[in-house]
Amino acid sequence: MSAGGRESIMQFLEKLAAWAQTDRTAIVYGEERLRYAELEARSNAFAHWLLRTLGDDRSPVLLYGHKELALPACMFGALKAGRGYVPVDTSFPPERVRQIVEELRPALIVDLCGLGLEDGRVLSAGELEEILHADSEPVPPSFWIRPEQAAYILFTSGSTGRAKGVQVSAGNIAAFLEGVAPWFDSETENGVILNEISYSFDVSVCALYYGLGHGMLLYTLDRQTLSDPKRLFEALAASGVTLWVSTPSLAELCVPSERFSRALLPRVERFVFCGEVLTEKLSRQMLERFPDVQLINAYGPTEATVLVTAARVTEELLAEGPSVPIGAPFSPVRAWIAGPEGEELPEGEEGELLLAGDCVSPGYLFRPELNARAFFTDPVSGKRGYRTGDLCFIKNGLVYYCGRLDGQVKLNGFRVELEDVENNLVKLPNIARAAVLPVLTDGKPSSLTAFVLLEAPDGLSSLKRTQRLRAALGELVPSYMIPRRIVAVDAFPLNTNGKIDKKALAALL
Ligand code: AMP
Repeated sequence: MSAGGRESIMQFLEKLAAWAQTDRTAIVYGEERLRYAELEARSNAFAHWLLRTLGDDRSPVLLYGHKELALPACMFGALKAGRGYVPVDTSFPPERVRQIVEELRPALIVDLCGLGLEDGRVLSAGELEEILHADSEPVPPSFWIRPEQAAYILFTSGSTGRAKGVQVSAGNIAAFLEGVAPWFDSETENGVILNEISYSFDVSVCALYYGLGHGMLLYTLDRQTLSDPKRLFEALAASGVTLWVSTPSLAELCVPSERFSRALLPRVERFVFCGEVLTEKLSRQMLERFPDVQLINAYGPTEATVLVTAARVTEELLAEGPSVPIGAPFSPVRAWIAGPEGEELPEGEEGELLLAGDCVSPGYLFRPELNARAFFTDPVSGKRGYRTGDLCFIKNGLVYYCGRLDGQVKLNGFRVELEDVENNLVKLPNIARAAVLPVLTDGKPSSLTAFVLLEAPDGLSSLKRTQRLRAALGELVPSYMIPRRIVAVDAFPLNTNGKIDKKALAALL
């Protein structure tokens, strides 16, 4: 145990080993089940294989897949072998994965979905199965990952048009687990946590680390299930979920159906929404449907490890307005609002939300300039700090989110830099310039519209052009980043400094 009784990754891995002594189920995925004992044996087998095969090389392993049961075994196996992992979801197109591989130079690529990378370091699903099922002994803790090492690296949308890797250390995860514990507080016997977020997005850390550390069952919903309402409701009815952690978008998908009620989820005790704006409308709908269930709005950027603030949402809180607060910082986190000169602003004034604490990431991989802008040392706490880019104010100790200071949007819970889409659009033939805008529904981005300036007339109807460009863009960026509409313009409205005037463009939406 580390100083101050703090939860550590070591303790987490020890808990996994302890749960493996029971006959509990760790993860359910469709018809498949993985017991804690199997998770433990497979992660040990993978760790031994890594140690044998890669020796002293401690660079991370890239895990390409979606929600396969083998993935958590690989993640914890990597940690036990003293290295980090990089989950890359199958929603990333091959070109984007190639860029990540080029930048990361992983020690090994586990390819569960036949990506077809021509690289000597690739392990196929079949080869991995054999490794995971080999006999194995526990791995001595002296090999395990150390607190300051990157436990995982998540690649998120980057304004340059290339994904950027956020490193999260084992110590960051420990700080997250400590901060979030009072908010998840699931003492429920045989608790079940929703496992719906792709492993390449950090909200999945709630299920993987909090859920598994507490011996819960992870009930998996994959992309196919989420995109088919009939299957989704069948899965939810069968889930027995007690702790629901998701983006509000998932609940927004469910709430139009009357079936989304206590009868569907008889065991649910708490809904934790995070990752994007929780509207007052959805909050009220949830309180009406599930009056005896705790409703929580939680907030956090990947760079500060999943979640750093939370609020219990009640009718009384909603009545205070003006919006649903993202809440008070977790006890080990310092959060304050800064003005344009970096000065701390008093309660009630809007500015950028800054965070400091042990949860703050060591930084982006190989991005020194970006790191210098985004991260700093907090003179008050002496801890590492992060500039969130979120415009917020504080009222009665609670933080309220008002929007972004840059071109980042959340689209159905996915983080998208508008410049990332623009920079990839201009890589396509015949596109001279591009500007991408979010389309708002109930004040929340619901889709993207791109405006493009062609180099030469293409003679295509706008429908045909949109279809072609969307397909071509899909080769470069994940599907959730593809604009629904693509409109060709003869010229862009420019502002005084010669940049595209997005406000004027917004009038065309
Ligand atoms: P990510 O790193 O993908 O988790 O995205 C972090 C960003 O999502 C934050 O900087 C916010 O802009 C947004 N975000 C996360 N949680 C919330 C929330 N509860 N309400 C509003 N915005 C949120």
